[in-house]
Amino acid sequence: MKSHLIFLGSPGSGKGTQANLLAKKIGFEKISTGVLLREEIEKKTDLGKEIKYISEKGGLVDDHIVLKLIKSQTNLENKSYIFDGFPRNLRQSKLFDKHIILKDTFKAIYFKVDSEKMIQRIVNRRVADESGEIYNLISKPPLVPGKCDISGENLIQRKDDYEEIVRNRLQLFKDLIDPVLAYYDKCDQLQTIDANRTVDEIFSNLKSLLI
Ligand code: AMP
Repeated sequence: MKSHLIFLGSPGSGKGTQANLLAKKIGFEKISTGVLLREEIEKKTDLGKEIKYISEKGGLVDDHIVLKLIKSQTNLENKSYIFDGFPRNLRQSKLFDKHIILKDTFKAIYFKVDSEKMIQRIVNRRVADESGEIYNLISKPPLVPGKCDISGENLIQRKDDYEEIVRNRLQLFKDLIDPVLAYYDKCDQLQTIDANRTVDEIFSNLKSLLI
């Protein structure tokens, strides 16, 4: 029997950064639905175009499309995963139970952050698509401006990281997250972390809960 981790948190809560750090440390693989969806957009398929239209406005992609992408990109029989960005609503939590957890165990971690702090984090976020590294112009700038420390590729600002879109995404997150938290709390699998602190502080807290 394996175990998995579910990372819950608003955009900009830092869960993706923490998932990158933790995955290296504990040998789990990180799977980010946002990344999977952006890869599909890059392929310029009909599905990719549909996903692009929805996600650039800050909306949520159809639950079954997301589930299908996860299943095609994971090896659930053999590996433990950190799920970053899935489940995002109660329906996805139930799909997760039915199609992903199976005989495995899991823990859900909620990265709780103040709204204004999160907006500042996101508008200053820059990402490296190929290496998957995540930077922040204020708290974690790259060594060379505009370039990834690891791969040297150009850093980009995601279209859905512009402030107006971020506010839509935050509202959507707030509308959907409470039933998800209640669901995991009820089965005693939920831990909450104060994600207003620095990356190192949050990581220490995370390790103390898990390792
Ligand atoms: P993220 O990188 O997690 O902030 O996700 C970026 C965008 O991808 C979101 O704003 C949604 O449009 C879409 N997305 C990511 N994960 C999901 C999901 N679990 N369900 C539906 N849409 C998702």
